[in-house]
Amino acid sequence: MATPTAYINGEFAPLADAKVGIQTHALHYGTAVFEGIRGNWNAEHETMYIYKLREHYERLLQGCKMLWIDVPHTVDELCGITVELVERSGYREDLYIRPVAYKAQEMVANLNLRALGDGFFCLAVPFGNYIDSDGAISCCVASYRRIDDTMVPPRFKLSGLYLNSILAKTDAVASGFEEAIMLNMDGHVCEGTGENIFVAHKGVVSTPTIESNALPGITRETVLGLLRGELGVAVQERSIDRSELYTADEVFLSGTAAHVQGVGSVDHRPVGSGGVGPITRRLQELYFPIVRGGNPAYAGSCTPARPRPA
Ligand code: PMP
Repeated sequence: MATPTAYINGEFAPLADAKVGIQTHALHYGTAVFEGIRGNWNAEHETMYIYKLREHYERLLQGCKMLWIDVPHTVDELCGITVELVERSGYREDLYIRPVAYKAQEMVANLNLRALGDGFFCLAVPFGNYIDSDGAISCCVASYRRIDDTMVPPRFKLSGLYLNSILAKTDAVASGFEEAIMLNMDGHVCEGTGENIFVAHKGVVSTPTIESNALPGITRETVLGLLRGELGVAVQERSIDRSELYTADEVFLSGTAAHVQGVGSVDHRPVGSGGVGPITRRLQELYFPIVRGGNPAYAGSCTPARPRPA
């Protein structure tokens, strides 16, 4: 039995009681920073492993600096709050953990971030596959371009920024694709709507630089480390042309929610053989045990939490 729980305004509360008012600034303008963190249930260990918890909160606090949001906690405290939240929630299945730091002030007509008070909450909900496919998914290139650092910096997970992803994803799904790949303002490949992107060609794996307006993904870092360290595959962080998507041997996506996801086609053109390619497959085989606390060499990346009985 689980006990759905939130941490809000400095205390734990039943999730159903955790509410914000309709004048909340963040609700009107997207003035919030969030994270998506996974808790991966390991039945054998009877333990939830929270992957790269610190890294998520480090990124959250960077976004807070951008938005002048003051979170009254250190990274260590935020990690502690999250472990306690997971333990109190009591779930014994995979989780999505969502911390949000936001402009909490109930003041609607004020566009000066520094005039507004802040809030922080965190919740955890059961969460299986984000993309409902074990195979390789179909993607299109979105007509919406990835928003530029000179507009709203996409290197942080700023809530309002996600309208950009949401418009692209919604159009892609409406057109029968499973995911959209976004180009940046100069027409180079940027990322998926909620994932970083990798392109493999002749044994070399390339991914867009962060300066191409991609999110500095935590899974992206894991993937780069596995490619270089475990698989000995050459990696390039560089500008990628759209046309490379059509001629690649493999294309795959990475993200906390999506894990490592093969792409089988782009704009109806098969990628490689149209299935999950060999490099993608080897990455998946390495990645899943790591995030589930099953590879002792990576134990330092997994924060354990032991759900309390209800
Ligand atoms: N790009 C975007 C736009 C995202 O929303 C995400 C998900 N956070 C990612 C990439 C992947 O980042 P991460 O691996 O840190 O989840």
